[in-house]
Amino acid sequence: MIIIVGQGLAGTLVAYNLLMRNEAFIMIDEQPQFSASKVATGLFNPINGRRMVVSRNAVEFLKKAEETYLGIEKLIGEKIYFRQNIYQLFGSIKDQNDFSRRNETPDFRHFVNSSPPKEQHLKNEYGAFETRQSGWVSISLMIELFAQKMLEQNRLMTETFEYDKLLQNADKTWQYKQIKADKVIFCEGYKGQRNPFFNRLPIRRSKGELLIIRCNNISKEKIIKKSIYLVHIGNGFYKAGSTYDWNAETESPEQPARQYLAEKLDALLDCEYEITDHLAGIRAVIPDLKVAVGEHPEQKWLYVFNGLGARGAMHAPYYAGALVQYLMDGMELPDYADVKRFWIS
Ligand SMILES: Cc1cc2nc3c(=O)[nH]c(=O)nc-3n(C[C@H](O)[C@H](O)[C@H](O)COP(=O)(O)OP(=O)(O)OC[C@H]3O[C@@H](n4cnc5c(N)ncnc54)[C@H](O)[C@@H]3O)c2cc1C
Repeated sequence: MIIIVGQGLAGTLVAYNLLMRNEAFIMIDEQPQFSASKVATGLFNPINGRRMVVSRNAVEFLKKAEETYLGIEKLIGEKIYFRQNIYQLFGSIKDQNDFSRRNETPDFRHFVNSSPPKEQHLKNEYGAFETRQSGWVSISLMIELFAQKMLEQNRLMTETFEYDKLLQNADKTWQYKQIKADKVIFCEGYKGQRNPFFNRLPIRRSKGELLIIRCNNISKEKIIKKSIYLVHIGNGFYKAGSTYDWNAETESPEQPARQYLAEKLDALLDCEYEITDHLAGIRAVIPDLKVAVGEHPEQKWLYVFNGLGARGAMHAPYYAGALVQYLMDGMELPDYADVKRFWIS
């Protein structure tokens, strides 16, 4: 029996991989009203941020992501995976020049279209390019429907995991209340800061906020990106985000972020829009910006999968698959992602 603590994006994908292999597991999640996974837009983009570089292993990550999310769609019976190009506006002449330089390399050209048709109702001073093989995943719908399945199968306990109740048996297996487990996997997002077993993991909190807006004039087929993105989530509603706050004291949406996002929207949209909601969640970020995955170097059969930061939608399927292959088949994890790096002094 395997215990998975946390049913956000990370825990759900680990559970999905175990389910596909008919492994016995149980999930424990306190089911908060909001979490990073519950508010995230789920954007995936092979081109990294403002620097406009192809992200490492993009082809491999995208392939695994598509295979995984399409598999989950079959399981839960709903569409959650949306392939959409990103129409990315340049913010300056410098952006245009950087793009032209990048566009000389074949691996960059593989993902972009340098002269997309012009999108309407945008304040577009410097032109745009388009990224292919990008899109978004409805993470909130995926985890909600996956939770329902798990509840039906008695594989989800909706409670807070109590660390002091996790004890080691004489045969080195783990005992959690009435459950005897040979493996415990912690997929706790930023709340992993409370975990005494993995307290060497330097998890930082990055609060993110986004707005839900209604707008009838802009593209529903493409994601629009400038300093913020706009993703159509259905019926003329869009997610517009997001912010990064490294010093936030609350988990709730706050006025300065709303104002920041509204100013960005005013600078981007050349049409009317209405703000209908405002959401916030906390991302878990590891300072080297890599995930932490693998077995506790000193406590046998305790595992972690955390640090998905702002790119969980694209990266999590790959690492969840790798972790399950590591557990079940003894396959190696990439050194750069292995949690053991925090135990080497
Ligand atoms: C505003 C915003 C926008 C974002 N947009 C994107 C985006 O466009 N693309 C992208 O890739 N990423 C995006 N992200 C990041 C993305 O949300 C994360 O990478 C990902 O969802 C993290 O998933 P997780 O499972 O690691 O953590 P979480 O989502 O935090 O889930 C952890 C779960 O574990 C539970 N848990 C923790 N400890 C315990 C315990 N002791 N007992 C019981 N339950 C416990 C928590 O309650 C929670 O349900 C965004 C995040 C935010 C906040």
